[in-house]
Amino acid sequence: MGVLSTFRRARRDVYMAGGVNDEVLAAQRIGGRLDCVSSVEAAGIFVLDRSGLHVQVEPTRSRLRSPNSRRQRLSTAARVVVHWRPGAHGAAHSIPLTEALAVAIRCQSPRASIAMLDNALHQRRIDSSDVRAIFAALPAKYAVLQALLDGRAEAGSESIARLLLRGIGCSVEVQVRIDGVGRVDLLVDGWIVVECDSRAHHGGWEAQQRDRRRDLLLAERGYAVLRPTAHLIFTDPPGSRVGARRERQPRRSRPIRSYTSESVFSATDAARSAFVANTRSSSAGSAISSSARSRTGSNSLTTTSARLFLKSP
Ligand SMILES: [Zn+2]
Repeated sequence: MGVLSTFRRARRDVYMAGGVNDEVLAAQRIGGRLDCVSSVEAAGIFVLDRSGLHVQVEPTRSRLRSPNSRRQRLSTAARVVVHWRPGAHGAAHSIPLTEALAVAIRCQSPRASIAMLDNALHQRRIDSSDVRAIFAALPAKYAVLQALLDGRAEAGSESIARLLLRGIGCSVEVQVRIDGVGRVDLLVDGWIVVECDSRAHHGGWEAQQRDRRRDLLLAERGYAVLRPTAHLIFTDPPGSRVGARRERQPRRSRPIRSYTSESVFSATDAARSAFVANTRSSSAGSAISSSARSRTGSNSLTTTSARLFLKSP
């Protein structure tokens, strides 16, 4: 077997190692380098919209090729976003991460950019001096985003949820430790816990059992729990349809019952009916004790859960 068999030909005079990422190869085939959100995603960092292939191309280059075949010209049908600019680095096949992040900030919504940078910080792929350098390279209008970054967010969905909630005027604390429960993703207005579940971290029945036990412990302490999936946060802010429907209905008083996790775990008939009544009386499928309501004043679970996530990303 010859040496060349371990390489893949991208275009004339450009060969890449056989194990190269398909998207890196496709960008080379087009005539450039994997760039922007595509390069950030290939580095294992959260990117909200992964639908296109973003490629840096030297302004002097002509005749771009199809990502699928070096024999075809690049057509407008291919989902390719070309960033024409000179490569400000010597590496042949890749864009430095900080450069890709800076380009990606200009190419995405502010929320998506913040979630991406949060994740890069969380994974310690960049530090605060990199962040300063990235924003120094951008037009001044982007500086406002820098103050909104929070590397404590453990997932992109958590960052987006935080921004959505702050956007509708909620007070949001990040990664809050609650006695007897542990850390929760977000604590909203002091009494609503929002856990941003993703399939990667919450697969399997065991994980579900653990989450549900946490929910009961939180309810016992007077917290309401919402668990929107990452998919819902990104595509269909949870509560919006239910909330809109409920807002149109005439209001009626709902009994607020209190129960302890001990009584539910012991599964007596009384506890079971209290649990069923609680879950039915709450639009979010969560229960809230009277102590939480008195602690937080006028908030009601129904109206607040309806307000959550009503604004699309
Ligand atoms: Zn781009």
